[in-house]
Amino acid sequence: MRTRAAVLWPGEPQWSIDEITLDPPGVGEVLVRMVATGLCHSDDHLRRGGYPEIRLPIIGGHEGAGVVEAVGPGVRRIRVCDHVVLSVPLPPCGDCAPCLDGRPYFCERGALLGQGFQVSDGTARHHARGQDLGVFVFLGTFAEHTVVSEKNCVRVEPGLPLELACTIGCAGVTGWGAVLNTAEVRPGDVVVVAGVGGIGANAVQAACFAGARAVVAVDPVPFKRQIAMKLGATLTATTLDDALPAVRDLTHGRMANTVVMTMAAGDGRLLESALSLVGKRGRVVVVNVHPAEETAATISLRNLQSFEKQVVGCLAGSWDGRKGIAFLADLHHAGRYDLDSIVTRTYDSLADVTTGYHDQAAGTIVRGVVRLSA
Ligand SMILES: [Zn+2]
Ligand SMILES: [Zn+2]
Repeated sequence: MRTRAAVLWPGEPQWSIDEITLDPPGVGEVLVRMVATGLCHSDDHLRRGGYPEIRLPIIGGHEGAGVVEAVGPGVRRIRVCDHVVLSVPLPPCGDCAPCLDGRPYFCERGALLGQGFQVSDGTARHHARGQDLGVFVFLGTFAEHTVVSEKNCVRVEPGLPLELACTIGCAGVTGWGAVLNTAEVRPGDVVVVAGVGGIGANAVQAACFAGARAVVAVDPVPFKRQIAMKLGATLTATTLDDALPAVRDLTHGRMANTVVMTMAAGDGRLLESALSLVGKRGRVVVVNVHPAEETAATISLRNLQSFEKQVVGCLAGSWDGRKGIAFLADLHHAGRYDLDSIVTRTYDSLADVTTGYHDQAAGTIVRGVVRLSA
């Protein structure tokens, strides 16, 4: 079939809206009519060359939701007309060492992410300008239709608005997972969330849900700090250093249990400020993507050792995305998860992807969503 997608071509600096040819779904795959895609920072990192290991041309987007229009041979769980939210980081094989170790997000199939073709058999379903197109994170949600593994699809109730639910796939699962799984926030903790974008806004809600007695949201943009307060933050600050006296007061000098780093891009120069905000056995969780070439950070190693401080990375919320999506869809249904306040702007067509990232860089949105079909 013919459809349209936002493609990143070698040597072209911006997303190109191309008409593409899409093959029918193969074994274990489904054709999804995309209803909406979220605009995650990682796609902008990709456009800026932040993932040199990923082959171009590629269809962007990895935060999507839609309606299944066709299923390939051998598909058992998903049916035509199902409403689905697509999961990241990959459909796990279930058999490799990380999968067996309970870490499906580290599945060894991840080695195929760089070539970007179908996770099922390594061939392409998407084509344009006489070339095979990759799909970012095995999804390629910047498209009006895409073909993905059925294992990437989490069925949700038809009543859940897909233009909100699409953001659960990456921002929701990552923000909540970082707090619940990686940081292991417990009732009574003090949590700092650094950066109120899509992931940070989710992390603030997750920290409240987990029972944090104080949630400090850090962001230089006043409108984002307001959203954080609406989502349950107890106080805000413009920078990590500005948060220091407030956290000290809140904790009688014992400092926070956790800092979750969810900024637009990581910056090693801020790591010491983040570590200064946590107390004994405090944990700094690095969720934001750092530039590929960044290798340095200056921190007090003495404090790290003496106070058993921890710096830990977090990929996709240390979670099986499918489990995270189901959890959050249920939470939304129960009225315990505010998606409306996170999606601060919805754009009307694929051509708005570039505008959306422009707005994101200008700090005028928390999470932008592009509507791809009705
Ligand atoms: Zn993402
Ligand atoms: Zn595996």
